[in-house]
Amino acid sequence: MIPIAEPEIGEKELEYVIDAVKSGWVSSLGDYIKKFEKKFAEFCQTNYAISCNNGTSALHLALLALGIGEGDEVILPTLTFATTANVVKYVGGKPILIDSEQETWNIDAVEIEKRITNKTKAIIVVHLYGLPCDMDLIMDIAKKYNLYVVEDCAEAHGAEYKGKKVGSIGDIGCFSFFGNKIMTTGEGGMCVTNNEKLKDKMELFKNHGMSKERTYWHSVIGYNYRMTNIQAAIGLAQLEKIDLFIEKKINIANIYKRELKDLKNIQFMKEKSDRKNVYWMFNIFSEAKDKIRESLNQDGISTRPLFIPLHLMPPYKSRESFPMAEKFSLAGLTLPSSTKLTEEQIVKICDIIKRVIYSAQ
Ligand SMILES: *Cc1c(COP(=O)(O)O)cnc(C)c1O
Repeated sequence: MIPIAEPEIGEKELEYVIDAVKSGWVSSLGDYIKKFEKKFAEFCQTNYAISCNNGTSALHLALLALGIGEGDEVILPTLTFATTANVVKYVGGKPILIDSEQETWNIDAVEIEKRITNKTKAIIVVHLYGLPCDMDLIMDIAKKYNLYVVEDCAEAHGAEYKGKKVGSIGDIGCFSFFGNKIMTTGEGGMCVTNNEKLKDKMELFKNHGMSKERTYWHSVIGYNYRMTNIQAAIGLAQLEKIDLFIEKKINIANIYKRELKDLKNIQFMKEKSDRKNVYWMFNIFSEAKDKIRESLNQDGISTRPLFIPLHLMPPYKSRESFPMAEKFSLAGLTLPSSTKLTEEQIVKICDIIKRVIYSAQ
């Protein structure tokens, strides 16, 4: 059985976890939290990192800190994991969906401008599958219309746009450390920002809205979105290895591309020379997607379809059509992308794909 993804957890994680447990600091106070936040901010080239209990709460905290509320419109891509839109609903806002650009599955920056109204407050960009969005264009639009930018970096730890780390470009960057992400803490999340006021607000909202200065004084309705010291211990050990994880992800993508490049019926996402794609998951596009999926499955190799565009599902149903997102979603297939894959395994996967394609011709 070859899975789509699996965490790579080793001795270092165990050592830190044992240390965290033995210290007695098993909840959300303790040294590992502070160390993990400090190192993660350094990794993202931001002033601050605020840990939390998952990527969804990271996005929710970002919107709370920015003051997004009832009736506010927030622009985001239709092709994403549902939580990107759900958090807008959590704060009473209205998600405004945008199609994918023609060359990548990411939000079409040109379409954003057409959908801005006097209610628009923010744009959430998603660096889908590890590929950064067109951030210069997006930041220009945001500046022109005075909008906040939240980067959903749940799938893009360490990705870069023109040499800048994702998460450091907009007002707030949000990360997930779910088990299948580039690095994991089991469940976990992080917000990064350069803005001290936003940092203070996110820390307030994640900790019951409880004042740091006055015990049991609640100035807002907060949440308990705290990460535990045990999770942070895993996170710190994972972060020490993240460059290696990213290198492996890129290498996996390169092997897939090398093996499949001559197949006319298989397409990949275009490379963008100004961006570092960290290839959280490697995807192909093919009319023969279903046959490929079936054949790989027979050999115990897992694959996954791409996300389903939000406008096709009940909570966000819309009669508008978003042809690019629909096209990517229909033809896209995620191939195994675990850092534990060997080159032989990837070659074997590609051989099966080649067999399907040749036999269909
Ligand atoms: C994984 C993911 C999240 C956050 O997921 P959690 O399970 O809440 O940690 C957010 N956005 C995208 C695009 C994701 O893939």
